[in-house]
Amino acid sequence: MMKRALNFNAGPATLPEAVLKKAERNWLNFNNSGMAIMEMSHRSKEYEAVHNQAISSLRSLLAISDDYEVLFLQGGASLQFSMIPMNLLSEGKVAHYVLTGAWSDKALKEAKKAGKTAIAASTKEGGYRSIPKLDDITLSSDAAYLHLTSNNTIYGTQWHAFPQIKNTPVIADMSSDILSRPLDMNQFGLIYAGAQKNLGPSGVTVVIIRKELISESHTQLPTMLNYHTYSANNSLYNTPPTLAIYLLSLVLEWVEEIGGLEAIQKENTEKAKAIYDEIDESGGFFIGHAEKDSRSLMNVTFNLANDELSAKFLNEAKASGFVGLNGHRSVGGCRASIYNAVPKDHVFELVQFMRKFRVNN
Ligand SMILES: *Cc1c(COP(=O)(O)O)cnc(C)c1O
Repeated sequence: MMKRALNFNAGPATLPEAVLKKAERNWLNFNNSGMAIMEMSHRSKEYEAVHNQAISSLRSLLAISDDYEVLFLQGGASLQFSMIPMNLLSEGKVAHYVLTGAWSDKALKEAKKAGKTAIAASTKEGGYRSIPKLDDITLSSDAAYLHLTSNNTIYGTQWHAFPQIKNTPVIADMSSDILSRPLDMNQFGLIYAGAQKNLGPSGVTVVIIRKELISESHTQLPTMLNYHTYSANNSLYNTPPTLAIYLLSLVLEWVEEIGGLEAIQKENTEKAKAIYDEIDESGGFFIGHAEKDSRSLMNVTFNLANDELSAKFLNEAKASGFVGLNGHRSVGGCRASIYNAVPKDHVFELVQFMRKFRVNN
């Protein structure tokens, strides 16, 4: 038997073993068709069933009402940085951004190309160690929307409550924490996520958008950059990434099987607590990057006393079979990404390794 890697990659990231096995069983012969799923027409009954199943699973897991559309796009979360202002930022309005890390910076950069923007709050000064207090977010009356990044993959911070704003849609980049916990979709006008952290392989981006925001969108946009194209055609205007959506449907089925978002949240909390406890009990040997009340359950970021010790830790971790523990190239240090599919046992192995390293050093 092959041993699965101790995979803490930030994205693309580990997928549930059960999902990979199921895909493997169906690889050559999907539903007795004599074809693989990616060899079929995207207009076939077989593919359409997969496509619609993925949409309905997302709807039921996230309790999404009929006021919203669930769309599948390509271009990653990064294309949404452009599409959101192109579709939703109209003349005379101002797009508001909360800056909590590199991804929100990039989202703002694209919005500036489309129209007027404002910074509603920022924790850049503190080195992106925290999420702003909800009271510190300022919106002007001409706000088109408020954009935030629910989990900051690179810095390891996460929103634990969201602003409740009347009359201004809240938009969230949930690429690295979608489906990690229950969510009240009604707080948002739009949420989006590239699939490669919690949803499946890269190649498909999920956008969940309030229907009334679509009807207001600009019709002069290029067809493929207009949300209306996707909503009017069940995300089948052109060829969708069929293999990625198939794997997404299997991941969603897996989430349902293990008990849905409440069960996932319980598991994620336990996994994150194990690592944060080791950091907190290490007496400063491991230094967490995020402030305690802003800590992410998905990406645990930490440093050791100096670069030399960090490098030694990462080298020994690598030699012991741990994958993906290097911090993002822009931040350095260490990062353990512990998305939904990272098994609890693997997290406990990491904690044991950290403890042993601390005692020996
Ligand atoms: C990974 C990530 C992105 C980038 O996603 P792409 O699909 O590569 O464009 C954007 N935002 C967040 C929060 C991420 O974690």
